[in-house]
Amino acid sequence: MLMRRLADVPAMSEEVNPFESLQEQIDDAAAFLDVAADALVRLKNPERVLETNLTVELDDGSLEVFRAYRSQFNGDRGPYKGGIRYHPGVTRAEVKALSGWMVYKCAVVDIPYGGGKGGIAIDPIQYSDPELERITRSFATELRPLIGADTDIPAPDVNTGRREMNWIKDTYETLENTTEPGVITGKAIDSGGSRGRVEATGRSTMLTAREAFDYLGRDVAGATVAVQGYGNAGSVAAKLLESELGANVVAVSDSSGAVYDQSGLDAHAVKEYKNRTGAVTGYAEAAEELTNDELLALDVDLLVPAALENAIDADLAREVSADVIVEAANGPLTPDADDVLAESDVYVFPDILANAGGVTVSYFEWVQNRQRFYWPEERVNEELERHIVEAFEGLVDAYEANDVPNLRTAAYVVAIQRVLEAYEEGGTWP
Ligand code: GLU
Repeated sequence: MLMRRLADVPAMSEEVNPFESLQEQIDDAAAFLDVAADALVRLKNPERVLETNLTVELDDGSLEVFRAYRSQFNGDRGPYKGGIRYHPGVTRAEVKALSGWMVYKCAVVDIPYGGGKGGIAIDPIQYSDPELERITRSFATELRPLIGADTDIPAPDVNTGRREMNWIKDTYETLENTTEPGVITGKAIDSGGSRGRVEATGRSTMLTAREAFDYLGRDVAGATVAVQGYGNAGSVAAKLLESELGANVVAVSDSSGAVYDQSGLDAHAVKEYKNRTGAVTGYAEAAEELTNDELLALDVDLLVPAALENAIDADLAREVSADVIVEAANGPLTPDADDVLAESDVYVFPDILANAGGVTVSYFEWVQNRQRFYWPEERVNEELERHIVEAFEGLVDAYEANDVPNLRTAAYVVAIQRVLEAYEEGGTWP
C-alpha cells in the first residue's frame, strides 16, 4: 500500500513555548515557598512522555502517519489524569505543558489525581468518521500499556468528546478482555458517563465568575461579557453566565472571527447557529462583526478566553480593557501578559481553578464507575459547586496571606504545597 506522508504538522506558530510558560509559573510560586532545588526539578518536568507515530489506513486505501503523544507529568497525588486533544498545533512541548497544568489543577480543587495529557497532531475535520475511528483506536492501542483506572485516565479535550472516549474505552476493554469504564472519563451516559460532564468546564467557569464578582464586591447580574472561543467550554460558560447569573454576553468568537452586540447576544441562539453553519460569524442578529483581537480589547466587565493557549500575549494584554478575566481555556495568557495585567490591576482568575470543573466531574464519573452507582445531575452540580467554591476560598486566602503578584501565583502556591506534601509523605524509592 502507498505510504502517503507524515501528517503535515505546522510548526508551533506562537513564539511562546507553553512548556516554558508552565515552568515559569511554577518558579514564580516556588519563590514564595521553601522548595528544595531537587524537588523543584520534579515539580517542573514530566515523569515520562510517550511519542508515537500512528500508521493508519485512510478510506482511499493509502496510509498516513500521525504523530501522537501522552505525557505523564506527576503521579504523586494519584493516577495521571487529563484529556486528549486533536489539533494540528499539537506538539511535544504543548502536551508537556498541558499535562503539568493538569497536576496543579487537580491539586487546587483537591481531587486525588496527578496530571497527564495527550494529543494527536491532526486537523480532524479533514478526515471521515471511519478514519477518525481507526486513528483513535490506533492511539488507544499505543496507550494501552500506560493507561488504566488506577494508573492514567484520559478524557476529552479540544476536538474530542464522548465519541472518541467511547472508542478508546471499547478498544481498551477489548484488548484487556474486561469491562473497565473508569479507564477513561467523558464517556456517553450509556457507556458509563456522568450526567453534567459535558457542561462541567463551562459550569466551573460560571461559578468562578460568580465568586470572583462577589469577592470584588461587584454585581455580576447585568455585567457585560466577551467570550473568546465558542467550543464546549466557551459556549456553555456563556449560556450559564446568561441563564444562571443574568450576565450580558455582548461578544463571542471562534476561529472565523467575532460577533458583537452592545445590547447583548443570545448565547444559546449563537451556539445553535454555529452548530448549523460551523461558525459564529454571519449570525444575523448581531450588530457587528469583529476580529478576535478586537474582541479581546472590548471594554467589558468580564473577559473569558476559552480557546487555546497563548491567546493573549503582552502586546494584546496592553489592549485589554476588561476589569476581570476568568480563564476557561488552558494557558490562554503568556507570563508576560500576566505581568502587564497585574500592573494594570486586571484581576485574572486562573485556568487551574476556573476550568477545573471538567476534571472534577471526570473524578465524579470515575467514582460512579467504580461504585457502579450513578448520580442524578443535581448531585453532580452540587458537588461540583462545593469543590469550586472551596477551592476559590483557598485561593483567595493564599492570595491575601502571601505577597504574591497575582491570583495565578496564589493558586500555584496552594497546589505546589499539596503536591509536595504527597511527595514527601510517599518518600523516594529506591
Ligand atoms: N481536558 C480537560 C482539562 O483540560 C478535562 C480533563 C479531564 O477530565 O481529565 O481540564
